[in-house]
Amino acid sequence: MIIVPEREIASLVTPADCFSAVENVFAAMARRSASNFPVVREALGHADAIYGFKSGFDRESLALGLKSGGFWPGNASRGLTNHQSTIFLFDADTGQCRAMVGGNLLTALRTAAAAAISTKYLARQDAEVLGMIGAGHQSAFQLRAALGQRPFKRIVGWNRRPEMLSRLADVATEHGLPFEAVDLDRLGAEADVIITITSSFAPILKASQVKPGTHLACMGTDTKGKQEVEAELVAAATVFTDEVAQCVSIGESQHAVAQELVRPTSIVEIGRVVAGLHPGRTSGEEVTLFDGTGVGLQDLAVASAVVNLAVAKCVAVQIEI
Ligand code: NAD
Repeated sequence: MIIVPEREIASLVTPADCFSAVENVFAAMARRSASNFPVVREALGHADAIYGFKSGFDRESLALGLKSGGFWPGNASRGLTNHQSTIFLFDADTGQCRAMVGGNLLTALRTAAAAAISTKYLARQDAEVLGMIGAGHQSAFQLRAALGQRPFKRIVGWNRRPEMLSRLADVATEHGLPFEAVDLDRLGAEADVIITITSSFAPILKASQVKPGTHLACMGTDTKGKQEVEAELVAAATVFTDEVAQCVSIGESQHAVAQELVRPTSIVEIGRVVAGLHPGRTSGEEVTLFDGTGVGLQDLAVASAVVNLAVAKCVAVQIEI
């Protein structure tokens, strides 16, 4: 069995590697050769922790396994990351455990890749202004990945606590782009692409604030009850997702579906666009919305890429179990 420790991941894999791995597995899902298994997510009743696992199998790449982990709110006070995860890969021919891979950085990279893939396929080609809602840990990854998809000229951002926006300003400076903190009216009026990445349980962005032709990637809502945008905005958009079953239960679409503003059958898996089975955006006026909930197959895809790189670069730790 191969072990790739968390500390090795950053030097092994690039955001571009993760983008390709996730793009390929989204297409495999659309071809129905890859599927996610039911998600387990439970409050432990200990340490205020939420624990669970996401698993699946891709018959094209033979990636089989699970990501196990969750959220331990007391970790920060111990100098640890609150979100903790580990990815296990199994040999699809024998069921033997093939690898154990640190999953913290990979979760950030695969989530950023998903929104960037949606931007590649769904944003208008002439998009110039990128809007960010949310300035937590994940926001910097989302911003960096999105900047590679269109020649954005400037970035506007909003966060409930404005002092956190310096994180986004720093990334903008890295890329030589201007950054401005704005209110939500200006953000919606100016941004051609909007990424939401917060832990909100109430709508932040209203339908009336978004202009025609905008592409939104709603990435923060990954649990029942969370919400980042008004249900009316989801209803007004052409909705794409990583997986329909997951987005209608724990994604941004859960509210619009519950209010019968959106039918689950009208939601398109982004893999269909990647695989050339759906045209994606059909006009410059259309609002497109990607509801990215985060599926286990994304984790398996990026972990498989890491294992291959670790073996090639001789940094994989091999043990007998
Ligand atoms: P974080 O704790 O570092 O940052 C949280 C962000 O949400 C901050 O910008 C904070 O100001 C904002 N926020 C919190 N409560 C809010 C509220 N009530 N209203 C408005 N804004 C609020 O978290 P992070 O690591 O940046 O992750 C952000 C969210 O993304 C989390 O909720 C996480 O569960 C989710 N996430 C989703 C995926 C996916 O695949 N879809 C993957 C990773 C993380």
